[in-house]
Amino acid sequence: MATILIVDDKTENLYLLQSLLQGHGYEVKTAANGREALEVARSTRIDLVIADILMPVMDGFTLCREWRADEALRAIPFIFYTATYTDEKDERFALSLGADLFLVKPAEPNFILHAVRDLLESKAIRPAAPAPEEAGREQAFLQEYNRVLIHKLEDKLQDLERANAELRALDIMKDNLLRNVSHELRTPLTVIQGYAELIGSARSGPVTEKQIQQCASIRNNLDRLLHMINNLIFLADPDALDRNRRVGRIAVGTLYAAVADAAGPKATEKEITLAFPESTAVVEGDHSELLQALYNLVDNGVKFTPKGGRVTITESIVGDAVRIAVRDSGIGIEAEEQMRIFERFYQVDPSTTRRYGGLGLGLAIVREIARKAGGRIELASAPGQGSTFTLILPLAAA
Ligand code: ADP
Repeated sequence: MATILIVDDKTENLYLLQSLLQGHGYEVKTAANGREALEVARSTRIDLVIADILMPVMDGFTLCREWRADEALRAIPFIFYTATYTDEKDERFALSLGADLFLVKPAEPNFILHAVRDLLESKAIRPAAPAPEEAGREQAFLQEYNRVLIHKLEDKLQDLERANAELRALDIMKDNLLRNVSHELRTPLTVIQGYAELIGSARSGPVTEKQIQQCASIRNNLDRLLHMINNLIFLADPDALDRNRRVGRIAVGTLYAAVADAAGPKATEKEITLAFPESTAVVEGDHSELLQALYNLVDNGVKFTPKGGRVTITESIVGDAVRIAVRDSGIGIEAEEQMRIFERFYQVDPSTTRRYGGLGLGLAIVREIARKAGGRIELASAPGQGSTFTLILPLAAA
């Protein structure tokens, strides 16, 4: 059975052609560029070669020229199979190098198979082709070679620019979608939350003790959803948040109380002791942002701490800043992961989302909020020994 060498730098192109030819009983060898193709052809028997034109290391034109100049290879049929064909001159040039055929991608599978079969049959009766260009034609060859390759590169550049513009448009669409979806999701959830509260408080009619508990569970889960959506909005629509930003003096103790309310039920569910300190600190910033940052840290502490553990918040004043440390007795974080976890969507364990919930956004947001408030975040952790995230914020001027 004939052996065909396919030369292309794109694995998907190689794969398609290889499947077609192997499916029709041919043996197939592959190479990613001209130089590899020559190495394969000089070490294995090849009956026909199909080559792309634009490839790194050695392009198809140079390959064809070397192929035809090599006594051992020159009788082997050579097909160009290229997607970047735009000009008849390219085809003429390719054939002038000694190629037998110039096919434009994507060609019909049957057409390729016929061409291959015809060339393999004709090979048997064909005299070895001479090397096409003599020394005197070298300069003309080089000129034409440069012209065609530059032309093809220009095409490629245009393709890339087009693809780039499409990607940019898609990126904008994705941002719009994320922004709209997160805002749209928040509105009905807020309504549901209101009703769950109304029913659970028995203000709209009598309810049983069990129903009160069930409403509390609805509210806790809604809180979690809203928290996730707030994290999404923080990244998807920072402008909207900036427009709504209200910077003022904030007693840190009010943040503790709100976070205790929001994170308490989940901690209780996991039998985790959640402890907040007495606070004296006053900082300057946006209340809902700082709340979100602290909640993200405490929520992570509860999330990554096994049942029965502890999440302890402590506060200290150092110079003109308050250090709010959220320490947990949880799974801890490897040293090499400690920088990466502040990146958007990064999670140490990719199965985390299903196991613990979350989107890998929380810490990216904490870092951004700390930065906006003129502060920073620090981390000390070791696997199996828990983690301490410290939020450092400048104190408000007295
Ligand atoms: P997520 O929504 O996944 O919690 P984060 O940005 O808040 O996203 O955290 C990113 C990753 O950092 C987490 O998925 C987890 O792997 C790790 N991580 C964050 N906080 C802790 C913690 N207290 N203990 C252990 N690992 C943590």
